[in-house]
Amino acid sequence: MESLVAPGIWQIDTQLGGWQELNAVFLVEGDMPCLVETGPQRDSDRVLEALGRLGVGPSDLAYVVLTHIHLDHGGAVGDLAAQFPQARIIAHPKGLRHLADPTRLVAAARQVYGPRMDSLYGGMTAVDPSRLQAAEDMGHIELGGGRRVTLVDSPGHAKHHVGVFDESTGVLMVGDAVGVKVPGGGPLRPAMPPDDFDRDLAIASLHKFAALGPDQVVLTHFGPAGPPQEVLAEAEAAMRHWCEVAEAAYSEEATVDHIERALLSRVFEPASDPGRQPVVDTLNGFASNAAGMHGWLRRRASTASEQGR
Ligand SMILES: [Zn+2]
Repeated sequence: MESLVAPGIWQIDTQLGGWQELNAVFLVEGDMPCLVETGPQRDSDRVLEALGRLGVGPSDLAYVVLTHIHLDHGGAVGDLAAQFPQARIIAHPKGLRHLADPTRLVAAARQVYGPRMDSLYGGMTAVDPSRLQAAEDMGHIELGGGRRVTLVDSPGHAKHHVGVFDESTGVLMVGDAVGVKVPGGGPLRPAMPPDDFDRDLAIASLHKFAALGPDQVVLTHFGPAGPPQEVLAEAEAAMRHWCEVAEAAYSEEATVDHIERALLSRVFEPASDPGRQPVVDTLNGFASNAAGMHGWLRRRASTASEQGR
């Protein structure tokens, strides 16, 4: 259930939905250990148990960093904050207020996920605002003993997204900014969900990651992704291609359904293990990507028409 990604960095499989190798959280060890991601609320007990096995007791955990506040990444934040009373909770400044009051976030997620909300994710419990801290772009978190991680503002997938770079190992934990690639699930898929996907910001974030020269790129869904510069280039190419397909479809008929049909006919590649197809489609399906790109294209069109006025 736990595996070592690099010296002092553990990957914990939250077993989201009962599936293996789909969703991870990461423990960066140090005098002041840091958990990156919490997983969804439904999986919080499994994360707690894994942290216990790794020797992180209730008063030990110093930091929890969320790459972003989507429920598969941060849903358990309130539950874990209660179990680890010393931990500071760090997230992008644009996400913090939702952690203090998740009412709107949870309601919006319910709209998107429907019945899967309860079976897969659960909700989110509020965090006491005094424990929240804003991630600063390229700011550092000192973990003691000379170890530190750098937070990298990386909007695109969502406006409230940060990457987490461990300088001592060169491991870059990229959340959803690079995409989703699960064992047996087929090639890397960009993750471009509603409500604030933006292609140009997402590609700029990939360039920012490349400039750090990471030794490993590690996906929340799921794990080390291969040679970093190749993975980042593959992610950019896929994102550009999918967005081109979406743009062409949008110009014919500006609906989410039409974009989804175009994606299914032009970019769909089946999972190498057919049993993994529903796993990938549940977490990062074409309907979600079509809706995310539709929102981006619609916002772009309205900005252009305002500027033309
Ligand atoms: Zn996400």
